[in-house]
Parts: sequence; structure tokens; C-alpha cells
Amino acid sequence: MHSPRLRPGLLGFGIIALSLVCSFGCGRSSSAVDPGLRSFSSDRLLAHIKTLSSDEFEGRGPGTKGEQLTIKYVEDQFRSQGLEPGNPDGTYLQNVPLVGITPDAKMKFALSGHGRTLGPKFQDEFVAWSKRVVDTSRIDADMIFVGYGVQAPEFNWDDFKGTDVKGKVLVVLINDPPVPDASDPAKLDPKTFGGTAMTYYGRWTYKFEKAAQLGAAGCVIIHQTDRAGYPWEVVRDSWSGIQFDLAAPDKNMGRLAVESWITSAFATKLFQTAGLDLDKLIAAAARRDFKPVPLGMHAKLEIHNSLQMIESHNVIAKLTGSDPQLKNTHVVYTAHWDHFGIGPEVNGDKIYHGAVDNASGTAALLEVARAYKQLGTPPRRTILLLSVTAEEQGLLGSQFYVEHPLYPLARTVAEINMDGMNVHGRTRDIVEIGRGASTLDEIIEAAARDQGRVVKPDAEPEKGFYYRSDHFEFAKKGVPAFDPNGGIDFIGKPEGYGLETRRKYTAEYYHKPSDTIKPDWDLSGAVEDCQLYFQVGFRIASDARMPEWRPGAEFKAIRDNSLRSSGSEP
Ligand SMILES: [Zn+2]
Repeated sequence: MHSPRLRPGLLGFGIIALSLVCSFGCGRSSSAVDPGLRSFSSDRLLAHIKTLSSDEFEGRGPGTKGEQLTIKYVEDQFRSQGLEPGNPDGTYLQNVPLVGITPDAKMKFALSGHGRTLGPKFQDEFVAWSKRVVDTSRIDADMIFVGYGVQAPEFNWDDFKGTDVKGKVLVVLINDPPVPDASDPAKLDPKTFGGTAMTYYGRWTYKFEKAAQLGAAGCVIIHQTDRAGYPWEVVRDSWSGIQFDLAAPDKNMGRLAVESWITSAFATKLFQTAGLDLDKLIAAAARRDFKPVPLGMHAKLEIHNSLQMIESHNVIAKLTGSDPQLKNTHVVYTAHWDHFGIGPEVNGDKIYHGAVDNASGTAALLEVARAYKQLGTPPRRTILLLSVTAEEQGLLGSQFYVEHPLYPLARTVAEINMDGMNVHGRTRDIVEIGRGASTLDEIIEAAARDQGRVVKPDAEPEKGFYYRSDHFEFAKKGVPAFDPNGGIDFIGKPEGYGLETRRKYTAEYYHKPSDTIKPDWDLSGAVEDCQLYFQVGFRIASDARMPEWRPGAEFKAIRDNSLRSSGSEP
């Protein structure tokens, strides 16, 4: 699971229009799938996790000896299970070039105008970096406040109103515009930007992407603890050291010259210097008629980078489908193999074992792969098993895959992601993050019903889980994606046990060296979850109908365009 600080946000689906789809196998014998279902073993899951999270694997850091051991292990497993190489070049590997960029902490930010110059303190009042793969990157440009920096035609919303922001430094608010409900102004309008939930427009990545797309030189996000969902320290720590990114052939020159956050206290000072009232402007930015406001301030900043090139890898296997036509379409399973490698020592351990995160998901991927090979006949569509790198660094392996897909995304019918398996026993429920967005809902529900279980929506929607793992990169490109989470209603355990174990994991083990195998682990629930993911993928791969986003879902337009431009009408 990727750190929440780097992937804030929530899905804003306001629609749940249920139309019951009876997918393949409905009312019929499901014996074809039984050999696969029966094949899952908690002992094998545990054995994989033991190996992957061992000291020898050194925390599976991209570009390290740990990577070499891990990708060899995953590839060897795929091969010995009899799965085909997933890369059309005949190998099980996809090269993923990464770059590590460390900005010089001695940078000086100078903001001048109205007869004054402000020099905010690095880390205390601002952070800044450049994702351009260059030694030096600089801005020297006028600043303009653009509200939430959003262009959302489906909500009839455009913060820019035709203002030319080329070469400028945009100052922007985090989150999406909080638009009051016309019938009850005390509440947020659920039809605009998802009401209380955050849409993609609210994410910091969107702000920088939009600014770059409009030709801006730089973008400065104003941090607000309540709107961001995390304190300044999280922003500061996330952006102060080495940052990894994909090493694109254009050296990321399409990105902004400078990306930055400032504290809300410094923002208040900046706007005061500009003779503006930040609170009034924040209120104005929540309205459709907002127009950008030049600050009359000039921003100057030069960043010196030290660069480190890293060659990392995704591992991919496939099982070719049995239908002459449908085999050219794909169901993809993903699980990230990487974790943080060797890092700062905590309680005498400096290996970040990542037993749950994500040795367990990788083990599940290997078990799902094995299960497909137990079937007498493969399902009609082709199954891809994708073990991605650098998830912990910002979903980079999956981003690279969707930007360089080995099979067309328009013919990738669904994606199922496994990140952190349940290690505490069987549950009566399974959690589907982003529930309500696509017709995957019914397929998941049917598979859960067969197990005597129920599907629940995210119990902690404010944490934005949907944006925090690899399925999101697929969703962002329009592929309907299933982001499951273990259940919380445990069989034979007291009420509240599920949320309590989750809380304990987050507080004590999450992204720490202590994420190791514990003596009280019980993988019977993980086996059931694997069976469910297998069953869901099998049903999708056996049905001629493709899962689709529901009207109004945030990635539907992207999918429709993708299908249209590939010649298959949505
Ligand atoms: Zn993680």
C-alpha cells in the first residue's frame, strides 16, 4: 500500500444504479472452475511470504540485490507453474527505467512585489522540487492565484476562464471546490465533485498535471491540514529527500520546471504582501464564477538536483485464453513486489521486510496464477499476471506499464489488484473500494455470495484508498479496476476486532521494518480472498460482456474514448 500522504483523495461516485447482471455461471454448474478454487493453499502462501520477506531479500528495494532476488523468484515461480512469458518479446520481464532525484536543500525561494521580498524557509515554510531530469531547474515568473486549478467540463467548472497562464507560477488550493448543495447549503452538493468525498480533481498530482498541461512554469500548492487530510510534517517529509520517478525519454521536460507546497501560514503572509485577503479568495474559489487573480508578485527559485539512474523491472506472465476471438482481450491481476529495501534503523532492524506490504499480495498473485493452470481449459479471455515495481515510490511500475502497455488497454477488460492480504483469519465480508463505480460490483457480489459472504464499501472513505495502489493507474486510463480490501467482520472474533487489527497494523507495522510474519497469523481468510479474486477474474474472462463504468463515474469518459479510438464502440 502506498503512503496516504502521496495519494490523498477519494472517489466521488454519487451513483448507484443497480442493474443485476447474471454473469457466466449463473444458475449453472460451476464445476469448470472448481479445480482452480480447490488449489489454493495457506501453506504455500506463507512459504512465499517467508521467502520474499526474509533478510536475504533485503526489503525488495528497486534497483538493489533485493530486486534481483525477487524478480528471479517471481519469474521462476511463473515458469515452473507453466505460465507463458507475458512480454511479447518472449521474456517474463518489462524494463522500467527509474530516476532518483535529490534536490539540494540549500535552495532559496525569493518572492518579490509591492516593494517587498519574502524568503520562506525551506522545509519550515515551503518545499520545492523538479521532476525534470536535469542538473538545474529554475523559475523566474509572475504568480497568479487560480483557485482550485480545476477544469471539469462534466461539472461545468473552469477555474481558468480562458486566462493565459503560460510561463506563470500558479498558486492553487488543495482538494476540490466545496460546492454547497442548493437545497441545503449546510451540506455539499453530492452531484458536484462528489460532495464530501474528494475526486481526482482534488489530488495534488492533478494540480501539477493541469498546470503543466496549460504551459505554466511552476505550481505552488497551499497546504491546509483539514483539506489535505494530513499535517504539514507529512508534506515536508515526503518531499525533502530523494524522490523517484520514471525516466521518460523526454527527461520529463513536459513536467513543470518547479513543483512546490507552501504552508497556509506563509500563504497568508504572501497574500497580505500582495494586498489580498486569502480567506475571501478561498471562499470565491468555491464558486463557478471564480476568475484567476494575479498576485503582483514575482517568484524566483533555482533547484540543483543530484541524479541517480536505476534500471528496475515489472515481471509478467500470461495464460492465453481459449476463445479464438476473446483471447485477444485480457484480464490483468497486479500485485507490487517492491518495498522500501534497507532504510533507517527502527528497534534494531533496518530491513523493511514488507511481509504484508506486499509479500502477501505477491504470494496471492502466485497462487492465483497457479490456480488458473489447474483448470482443464483456460477461460476464454487471456489472463495476465503482473508483478510491478516501485509502487511504494508512487505507483511507478504500474504507471510505466499503462504508458507502455504490452497489450492494448482498450482490450484490457478489467484489472484486479492485490496489495496487503488479510492475515487474521476468515471474515464474513469483503471490502470493495470504489464500490458503485462499475458493473464489477455485481460480479464481485455474486462471487462473494457463493462463499456466503457480503461485499461492503470502504469503511474509511476519507483515507482515499482508491488512489493508493496500482489499480488506480489502470482506472486512470479507463480500465475498470477492482481494488479489494480484506473484510473486517471476523468469524469467531469479538466485534471491533477487524478495525482494531487494522489500526494496530497502521500504527505499529505499516511501512516500518516491523512489517514481518507474526506467530498468530492465520491465512485461512487470505485463501478465501484469493479464491474470490480468482473467481471474479474467471467470470470476467469467461463472459463476452466487458465490465463497464457506470454513467457519471469519473473514468467513464476516458474508457469511452479509448474504446472509440481503438475501433470498438463503448
Ligand atoms: Zn506500502
